[in-house]
Amino acid sequence: MSSVAQTPAVTIPSDLLPEDGRFGSGPSRVRPEAATALAEAADNFLGTSHRKATVKDVVHRLRDGVAELFSLPDGYEVVLGNGGTTGFWDAAIFNLIEARSQHLSFGAFSSKFATGVAAAPHLQEPVIISSEPGTHPEAVADSSVDAYALTQNETSTGVSMELRRPADNGLVLVDATSGAGGLRFDPAETDVYYFAPQKCLAADGGLWLACCSPAAVERIERIAVSDRWIPPFLDLAIALGSSRKDETYNTPALATVFLAVHQVEWINDNGGLEWAATRCDQSADVIYTWAENRSFTTPFVSDTAIRSHVVATIDFEGVSADEVAAVLRTNGIVDVESYRALGRNQLRVALFPAIPPSDIAALCGCIDYVVENL
Ligand SMILES: *Cc1c(COP(=O)(O)O)cnc(C)c1O
Repeated sequence: MSSVAQTPAVTIPSDLLPEDGRFGSGPSRVRPEAATALAEAADNFLGTSHRKATVKDVVHRLRDGVAELFSLPDGYEVVLGNGGTTGFWDAAIFNLIEARSQHLSFGAFSSKFATGVAAAPHLQEPVIISSEPGTHPEAVADSSVDAYALTQNETSTGVSMELRRPADNGLVLVDATSGAGGLRFDPAETDVYYFAPQKCLAADGGLWLACCSPAAVERIERIAVSDRWIPPFLDLAIALGSSRKDETYNTPALATVFLAVHQVEWINDNGGLEWAATRCDQSADVIYTWAENRSFTTPFVSDTAIRSHVVATIDFEGVSADEVAAVLRTNGIVDVESYRALGRNQLRVALFPAIPPSDIAALCGCIDYVVENL
């Protein structure tokens, strides 16, 4: 029997349903307003040259909008390229780590970058500091490393960490893929704050963006002219040069660029990062308060200080979270399944800015209804 056939038939009353059923942690909900704007702009934008003003203007707005969103200090530059965050990790391996890096490893994404670095023949063995899922380790000042790799929000477990320079030496490289645009941070505490736009920026995947400090730019330019062979696609000096011209090295997905600009400008017009982060705080308050008040749920991350306000992980007891997710799916509520590799009886819910807190409240009501009617 397929799992679909086993899914109990429960129809959630329509007045309980959220206005939009997409709660995935990536790709995330795209605001319908953005999709409509893309459709309206399509005839003059999609299918036009990324080397011409029509598209370059949009790339320019994206770079400016990101700098405004994060209040980047003078000298920081927004660089972008193709390949998403996974592609950026490989670029970092070639072009940002001089010899040795330190990694905080506390979930599927943070460990993946560390593993990639460990396999790179041109780098020394990285220092990897790990902690149990549901927690995060602390960085340790280490004069033998030239880069510290942090993850602002570990999307697989729903743990977020405050960004602070661990030491005076070394670049601070932050994977902010699921935090960027939803969590507060001080850019001065980072050298490369990188992300992809399919999470808080409510766009499509395929692109990476990196906010680079002057020290990071200096590192990129120095390694680029060293003896190290760097594949051009992963050469951040080339990406930097292209970005300064509001271009990418090779053809980007124009729809992704458009949707990302739409979201960045929507956030900036509404009050910027503080507004977006406050909205995520409200959603977090709704779902964690709900989970604490039900006999069958508990927030997975016990330390409230590191409990993510952009991705909530909720443990279930006495009720199958998979079954709840399957029933929700038949009612049009999708992608709240847990991160598979974590192997817990859990739901994972995105709290990104595109998702209104009222929809998080509606989702909680729908889960209550499903559990009562299983
Ligand atoms: C989603 C995610 C990634 C992977 O992003 P891609 O653009 O799919 O490569 C990496 N790190 C974190 C923290 C993520 O949430």
